[in-house]
Amino acid sequence: MKAVVYHGPKDVAVTDVPDAEIERPTDVLVKITTTNICGSDLHMYEGRTSFEKGRTFGHENMGEVVEIGTGVEKIKVGDRVVLPFNISCGFCKNCERGLTNYCLTTQPDPSAAGAAYGFAEMGPYGGGQAELLRVPFGDHNALRLGEDAQDKENDYVMLSDIFPTGYHATEMAGVIPGDSVVIAGAGPVGLMAALSATIKGAAKVMVVDRHPDRLALAEQIGAIAIDDSKVDPVQAVLDETMGLGADRGCECVGYQAHDPQGNEDPAATLNMLINSVRFTGGIGTVGVFVPEDPGAKGELAKQGKAAIDFGTHWFKGQTMGNGQCPVKKYNRRLRDLIAADKAKPSWIVSHEISLDQAADAYRNFDSRSEGWTKVVIKP
Ligand code: NAD
Ligand code: ZN
Repeated sequence: MKAVVYHGPKDVAVTDVPDAEIERPTDVLVKITTTNICGSDLHMYEGRTSFEKGRTFGHENMGEVVEIGTGVEKIKVGDRVVLPFNISCGFCKNCERGLTNYCLTTQPDPSAAGAAYGFAEMGPYGGGQAELLRVPFGDHNALRLGEDAQDKENDYVMLSDIFPTGYHATEMAGVIPGDSVVIAGAGPVGLMAALSATIKGAAKVMVVDRHPDRLALAEQIGAIAIDDSKVDPVQAVLDETMGLGADRGCECVGYQAHDPQGNEDPAATLNMLINSVRFTGGIGTVGVFVPEDPGAKGELAKQGKAAIDFGTHWFKGQTMGNGQCPVKKYNRRLRDLIAADKAKPSWIVSHEISLDQAADAYRNFDSRSEGWTKVVIKP
């Protein structure tokens, strides 16, 4: 089958690889109909991780079931399904608590937790930027879609990751109706956090970034755009909230955050939020931060530490929730909002391409070229 394969830093190519197939009785095999490029793919694409050459990308996947293992009870051949990026078992200590983002069964390293398709440090699983995908524990992981699956393909595919992830940021921040919410980052994840805050009834949603095209998408759903290359975002949020600060903050950027001068500073967004969220407010951090790698040198060595203003965070009595999104916790209800025309996450899709155009799309998305917000691939 054809797949988007990692060949080295900033080098991907569509390559022939062995077909994905059923390996265990609980697997289902999915013919991919839509698969997205995610900001998370860029950590690997840029060579910032241990992702091995030859591996296939793709953790935001949906498609049609073409084969099921002998132990699969619920999912049927022909079902249209969307797959959470987390691969989980449903029965380990963490999954039992709904923490499918920290599954202990599907992660082969006993000192770690959590697995995903086509991802560094998250198990050996193949990615879905390919024609076929093997889905472990198919009954548990595949979410069935209704008759409108094909009509709303670019909406439903967002249930694999970024829509639940944006929603998770608002959950961890504690957003309730009437809140004011500041969001760091107008990338796909930040825009989904803005959509989620709006769905939850936030009175005011403020989105900080410096890309005019991305900020314009935030404005399209009624958010206030704050361009941090033109104004101090902390002051802008205070001005919007009668000097009190926002009730909630969502971090949707991660360690690649830029400081006001545009240089990489892993603490830039966290400090912006700590200083612009009110006393006793909540912050949800879904942007990726990675543990320090003792062997790393140069730029890589800076990734593991973020010099946050913990004193201010503590003094203000703020809370902060962190980590990957447990997609299964939210994807069913967000699916039903899409089905009921109450959420349309596809408004951020900027490019629809074939597998063969993936290398060019990675280049453009990685350099945040004007207008490249979200790429969906149709294998
Ligand atoms: P992206 O890189 O396309 O978007 C990030 C945006 O942040 C860019 O538009 C950039 O201009 C902006 N930005 C940089 N510094 C900033 C600053 N100081 N203030 C405000 N904005 C700033 O990525 P994305 O696809 O939106 O993903 C965002 C992050 O979320 C990544 O780290 C990704 O890996 C992570 N992620 C986490 C999960 C999870 O489960 N926790 C899931 C998906 C993605
Ligand atoms: Zn993703």
